[in-house]
Amino acid sequence: MAIFFQGCQFDCIYCHNSETINKCTSCGLCIKECSTKALFLSSINKSPGWAKDKCIECDACLRKCPHSSSPKYLSLGLDDLLTCVKKVSDFISGVTLSGGEVLLQIEFVEFFVRKLKEKKISVFIDTNASVPWEFFERILPYVDQFMIDLKAYDNKDHIKLTSKNNNLAMQNIYKLGKLKKIYEVRTVISEDFFDCFKTVKKISVFISNLDKDIQYKLIKYRSHGLRKKKFREPSDDLMNKLKAETIKSGLNSVTIS
Ligand code: SF4
Ligand code: SF4
Repeated sequence: MAIFFQGCQFDCIYCHNSETINKCTSCGLCIKECSTKALFLSSINKSPGWAKDKCIECDACLRKCPHSSSPKYLSLGLDDLLTCVKKVSDFISGVTLSGGEVLLQIEFVEFFVRKLKEKKISVFIDTNASVPWEFFERILPYVDQFMIDLKAYDNKDHIKLTSKNNNLAMQNIYKLGKLKKIYEVRTVISEDFFDCFKTVKKISVFISNLDKDIQYKLIKYRSHGLRKKKFREPSDDLMNKLKAETIKSGLNSVTIS
């Protein structure tokens, strides 16, 4: 089961989930875009309401939103979310928290993962790791593994891609790797983002020195569905050559997606 949290501190130039970056400002602009009347203005708090059962996932509302947000969200408390998990608990192998950036809601996340662990449900968290180390310390006992998006190795590339430096991410990956808490590190690849060979080589050596069992996933940049500027998509040949380069680092698992 995957649960997506709204809100992110990055603004990646290639973000494929840009509707998760900001919280909805309740401007109401998206409501009239909905042909199925799945969206409506809530009379209680004047924010957009979403009737999930009427939604046909056409994404017209997302295309209209000028704030990199979405009206298709649910405001759930801890008990509400635990009830959702309980309903499917016989059919799932675990819960993955993703986003947006999950750890920006650390207060809620700490309570939630603690409860999941009490119920012996495995927990994975998908994060950009650019949060204070104390956030990780608060949840380490209750989270099985982390999956980390490392956008670039060199800071100038990282700032170009995300508008933020990668200092916290690098420090946290180092600490989590030493604790054997990382399942996977991922990097999105395009020749327009950075020197691809230099980047994947540096990242693979960095994580291989921490734990050779960390999976390194090279994600092919795809322009489909992007609302912002489009970039070059890497060829399969380039992706295979990059994979061959990263394998030299000694990592046990390198994949292409
Ligand atoms: S994605 Fe759903 S809520 Fe949004 S416009 Fe389409 S039908 Fe309406
Ligand atoms: S989702 Fe976007 S367009 Fe719709 S109400 Fe919220 S901020 Fe406005």
